[in-house]
Amino acid sequence: MQSYIEIEGLEVEAKHGCLDFEKTTPQKFVFDCRFWGDFSLAMSSDSLDRALDYGEAAKIIADVTVNNSFNLIERLSKEVLGSLSKKYPYLDKIDLKVSKPMAPIDIPKKNVAYFTSLCSRPVYLGLGSSMGDKSSYIDFAVNALAKYGSVKKCSDKIVTKPYGGVAQNDFLNAVVLFNTFLNPSELLSAVNEIEAQAKRDRSVKWGDRTLDIDIISYDDIVMNTKRLTLPHVDFRNRAFVLYPLRQIAPDFVCPETGKSIQTLVAELENSAKTNGKCEIISNPSSDV
Ligand code: ADP
Ligand code: MG
Repeated sequence: MQSYIEIEGLEVEAKHGCLDFEKTTPQKFVFDCRFWGDFSLAMSSDSLDRALDYGEAAKIIADVTVNNSFNLIERLSKEVLGSLSKKYPYLDKIDLKVSKPMAPIDIPKKNVAYFTSLCSRPVYLGLGSSMGDKSSYIDFAVNALAKYGSVKKCSDKIVTKPYGGVAQNDFLNAVVLFNTFLNPSELLSAVNEIEAQAKRDRSVKWGDRTLDIDIISYDDIVMNTKRLTLPHVDFRNRAFVLYPLRQIAPDFVCPETGKSIQTLVAELENSAKTNGKCEIISNPSSDV
């Protein structure tokens, strides 16, 4: 369920503007802010733990505004949104209006304002584990992701054969739909951090691992840098990604090729028929 908490007319005295006197003499800035998200647990539980603390959010806005001095309200908005999105990573969208009612314009009764929205972006992540308590490592990843965004959907965990000819153990795999304000590079750092917390050993390429988190796709972004390829360079060849992806995203379309998930699965199954390479999976509900 989508709803929003609104802070209206929050007044803060601060020194933003490009004229000299604006950098020394505080003037009034007014903030209107909407925090979009799923507040259904706050509604059902009536518990403060499940609610967005609007007093705290107002203080964040005020602190960023008072502790900086920018030329532009656009820049001030960026900083305020950055701090709010870090504090409330589970939100879906933050709308912000920054007004400057005393802006130095020679016309009486004026207001100047800047509106902007920060939207979280949908990401599909592939999770895998082939060592130790595999199911717990996958659960650990899902819980740890909450620090960086909001897990919207989780596929079943499926048992798969090792891929790539190095790892020996069977894997447990899953795919999650995750919404985040982080950009792709920040997201890669975040998932590497979660892998490190799970004591991931990277010494053997494609070897057995406690936890692997791959970014399968990041919204409609197609990119290829030294550190990050989006969508994931090999996901179309991996049944352990495509099957759980199809389960939670039957309308998924590859941003690079424009192919639907149904087509990608069919292509993989056809190529598996001809070269026998498809990694076939045990019953999704079975455990390892
Ligand atoms: P693999 O998942 O292929 O077994 P790693 O998890 O060790 O191997 O990842 C190897 C490198 O792949 C990472 O250091 C990362 O920089 C890079 N990489 C490139 N694109 C992606 C992506 N879409 N998701 C995750 N890692 C990626
Ligand atoms: Mg990986």
